[in-house]
Amino acid sequence: MSTFRAVVIDKNESGQSVGVRSFDEADLMDGDVTVRVSHSTLNYKDGLAITGKAPVVRRFPMIPGVDLAGVVEASSNPAFKPGDAVVLNGWGLGETHLGAYAEKVRVKGDWLIPLPQALSAEQAMAVGTAGYTAMLCLMALERHGLRPERGPAIVTGAVGGVGSVAVALLARAGWHVIASTGRPEEADYLKSLGAAEILDRSELAGPGRPLAKERWAAGIDTVGSTTLANLLSMTKYGGAIAACGLAGGMDLPATVAPFILRNVALLGVDSVMAPKALRMEAWSRIARELDHGKLAAMTTVIPLDRVLEAGRAIVEGRIKGRVVVEIA
Ligand code: NDP
Repeated sequence: MSTFRAVVIDKNESGQSVGVRSFDEADLMDGDVTVRVSHSTLNYKDGLAITGKAPVVRRFPMIPGVDLAGVVEASSNPAFKPGDAVVLNGWGLGETHLGAYAEKVRVKGDWLIPLPQALSAEQAMAVGTAGYTAMLCLMALERHGLRPERGPAIVTGAVGGVGSVAVALLARAGWHVIASTGRPEEADYLKSLGAAEILDRSELAGPGRPLAKERWAAGIDTVGSTTLANLLSMTKYGGAIAACGLAGGMDLPATVAPFILRNVALLGVDSVMAPKALRMEAWSRIARELDHGKLAAMTTVIPLDRVLEAGRAIVEGRIKGRVVVEIA
């Protein structure tokens, strides 16, 4: 019997239990590529799975972890051969398919992309789903025709993972970035990533008016709820907000006024099922455009054993930037 180390979530009478234990390779799920995982990362969704705070996990036992970087060990998929360095983001890993907090995964080759040459496995996981989603948001704004000349761009949840990368990417693309945060003590950190202004998130938290003073042309929102409603009400004529998160709530107590009176657009961004061509484009842009020094400054590396406490910290909004989980 061949086993490997993994974080495993089991179901029991009192709910779920989670811990690091050995897992039998024979219990891996179907797939045409087996990958030896070297690094994973911590996303908000991983925190929800670990704490059981939201019903992210759809089968038990489950190995959480939505992102991985590693090396192909065996493959019957013609696109990959043993030794290839690969990256995987999403596709139900850690939700419906055994995930990345494990020394080994078996997955569909269609879910994998080659590790971009400019990035190490650790750097790719410092980016992770959070950073790749930030790039998908920037690309959505650009597809809408928005450019820095149109006015400032706001990022909410700016000290978090998606937010930190979004600030760095928007600043690199020439935007005047307004970083909204509940942690004003992190102002220097946000400015070092490229933020031009810091906005206290309490200014966006209360019930807003249908239309308020126009303040930004674009935005990347990770918070949802009243924050997103306020963002829309303060968006300049013809601007857009790319919405990818729900750290503040899943509801959207907004009116249609910004859409019908200011031609504002709300652009939904999903990373999990994004088509391969879009993934490849996002990753190649990240490899070119994300400053490696800034990426290192926003990243903490932890061993697999510490992922449970880190999972609790992320759902409580206590994580700064990105967390890489070292597996190998
Ligand atoms: P983090 O926990 O790293 O960041 C979230 C940030 O949101 C926090 O750091 C905090 O920022 C802010 N925040 C937390 N709670 C609240 C609150 N109650 N009200 C207002 N702001 C709050 O998570 P990630 O950056 O990894 O993910 C952010 C969101 O994006 C999550 O909801 C996640 O599920 C979603 N997501 C969606 C993806 C997709 O495919 N659509 C992919 C990846 C993530 P600060 O301290 O600066 O105020």
